[in-house]
Amino acid sequence: MKTATVSGIDAFREDFPILNQNVHGNPLIYLDNAATTQKPRQVISAISAYYDTDNANVHRGIHALSHRATIAFEDARERTARFINANSSDEIIFTRGTTEAINLLARTWGEEFLREGDTILLTELEHHSNLVPWQMLAERKKLKLAFIPITGDEGSLDLSTLDTLLDPTVKVLAFGHISNSLGVINPVAKLCAQAREKGIVTLVDAAQSAGHGPVDVQALGCDFLAFSGHKMCGPTGIGILWGRKELLDAMPPFHGGGEMILSVDYQKSTYKKAPHRFEAGTPAIAQAIGLAAAMDYLDSVGRPRIAEYVHLLAARAARELRSLPGIRIFGPEKERAGIVSFHFDDLHAHDIVTFADQKGIALRGGHHCTQPLMKRLGVASTARASFYFYNTEDEVDRFVEVIAELHEFFSRG
Ligand code: PMP
Repeated sequence: MKTATVSGIDAFREDFPILNQNVHGNPLIYLDNAATTQKPRQVISAISAYYDTDNANVHRGIHALSHRATIAFEDARERTARFINANSSDEIIFTRGTTEAINLLARTWGEEFLREGDTILLTELEHHSNLVPWQMLAERKKLKLAFIPITGDEGSLDLSTLDTLLDPTVKVLAFGHISNSLGVINPVAKLCAQAREKGIVTLVDAAQSAGHGPVDVQALGCDFLAFSGHKMCGPTGIGILWGRKELLDAMPPFHGGGEMILSVDYQKSTYKKAPHRFEAGTPAIAQAIGLAAAMDYLDSVGRPRIAEYVHLLAARAARELRSLPGIRIFGPEKERAGIVSFHFDDLHAHDIVTFADQKGIALRGGHHCTQPLMKRLGVASTARASFYFYNTEDEVDRFVEVIAELHEFFSRG
């Protein structure tokens, strides 16, 4: 294995037991990290240790196990607040993931504060999770949707008309930090500052960024931020909606049920304050504990180091792929996050992924939950390689070699 260009980062690969296996007779090369990342031993152990010794339901119990489970669960909330530099753990709502976090926001803040004729401003890059919940809300409340355009295959946002787009009807600007399809990194602080000047509320979809570099809600200047545990070394079934305290306090509840109430009568109930008001029912306790372990782990690797290394791997992949005849590579040439999407006119993305799988390489092919973006780019689908800090330069080179082989194989046919 080649020495990694960011010193010491290759040592962390050993923490991921799943990577040490063959697939179809070849060593596994896992390049589907934008869909979900693998989990280090430290996270797996934190979850099994919780089930081995502390498992109980939280908040309601007086007994020792329930007390311990509650402390671990609420510690995970504190850990999350520190991870994104929130002012208080009261600003951290546990959800099932980014999708649920955005639905929560649309169904509570959106229902309460948006009025007929208001505009929700999104971008042409959005994942369906940051589009469909807003469409559903727009339909119910007769709102308009508008989109910041992109610049073509590069996919960077065209901000030349932003001032006009941020017209007085715009009440919310919701956009991704990093595009899961193209690897574009958006200028979050700049967009949030411009929105704030006009009193527009901002939501940042940090699904692709939270585990890939530092994310500081105060430095970004956003009002809400959503992300998923499973894309940052944590388990599935857990995610976060962070919101400014004053905004959360003004929002009505999301789901009704146990845990979110102060008192219940047959006819009427009163509700707890944020964040508990938004967490009805038994929460994902083991998953929250696993997420906190993932945050500790990522900080031991070093988030700036992760960003630097992953960007190097993706830049290397894009550079090497570019020499293949007929390839179309999406996303920016500079400042690319750890994602490379590509397309050959004469090859279907599913054929690329199936061929790569036979060589042990896990890629993804399809619309990546960005169907409107695919239409905008004039393709039905792309093949996508997405990198994380446990990938190596050798793996990047092998991936490019396999794509070259595949292209040659099909062009001969
Ligand atoms: N937004 C972006 C940018 C994503 O990449 C994803 C996951 N692919 C989501 C939202 C949805 O995340 P989840 O499925 O974990 O809710």
